Amino acid sequence: MTAADAEQVLERLSSLRQHQQDGRRSPHKPLLVLLALGRLAARGSSALPWSETEEELADLLRDFGPTSRTSRAQSAAYPFTRLRADGVWTLDRDVPMDNVGPLRDGVTGRLEASLETALRARPDLLGTVARGLVESHFPGTVAPDVLVAVGLDPELLEGRSTGAAPGARRRSGAWPARVIEAWDRQCAFCGFDGAAGGAVVGIEAAHVRWFTLGGPDDLDNGLALCSLHHKLFDRGMLGLDDDLAVVVSRRFSARTPQGRAVYDLHGRPLRPRPGTPPPAERHVLWHREQVFQGMALAG
Ligand SMILES: [Zn+2]
Repeated sequence: MTAADAEQVLERLSSLRQHQQDGRRSPHKPLLVLLALGRLAARGSSALPWSETEEELADLLRDFGPTSRTSRAQSAAYPFTRLRADGVWTLDRDVPMDNVGPLRDGVTGRLEASLETALRARPDLLGTVARGLVESHFPGTVAPDVLVAVGLDPELLEGRSTGAAPGARRRSGAWPARVIEAWDRQCAFCGFDGAAGGAVVGIEAAHVRWFTLGGPDDLDNGLALCSLHHKLFDRGMLGLDDDLAVVVSRRFSARTPQGRAVYDLHGRPLRPRPGTPPPAERHVLWHREQVFQGMALAG
């Protein structure tokens, strides 16, 4: 594909960026495109049968769209039928706009064929498109959660897109959601389990051994952590001991009772739910040696 072709792909999808009116959000079409991009990245095909997509799309709209009185099926049918008008989406049979009934007869939607071919050939372009869409519709605190929900890698936002560098390792877009599920959607350190509707809020998948430094996208290299403890873990203020209890670095300091609540984590054991592998010893050791800062507090 030439640079001009790639430019054209970006242009065709960029019109979706300008759907806001009077500051009102309308993320319906972008969320459907993101869902299709996630499917394309995972399966090599963007095909979304309505029967499989109705619930998933309705959940996305509920969790990341504005509050609406429209029924779940109807709000999902809106982008599923209307996105055709933007020239980037096709249905395998002609159905009327906004009508749920005919969709239930077994309609499948997918990205327009030439677009799908171009994006399949260029994973970096897929990443660029996804990043542009999510960043133009969601703030930085929410954008990663949207990408996880559609099965794309939130690291796209850092510009470290999958397949960007020749020979670079590819991240698994599905890994963050798997880790968060495996830890029962709560912080492995403090138990924080915030949800907004059905989607977690403020909970992230953390690599014990950093991906950029060889850490695999395996469940035994992952922890679900709240945003604060993820940051403190990656900054080496929190770590794990040989018995998989949380340790707090002596370098950590805080003045207020809220800040000092971090000390209460010291000695708290991880409690993975049955079937969830705890972090592997080699990854815990790596974190202790490469990331954890200084000495742990005395027990
Ligand atoms: Zn936490």
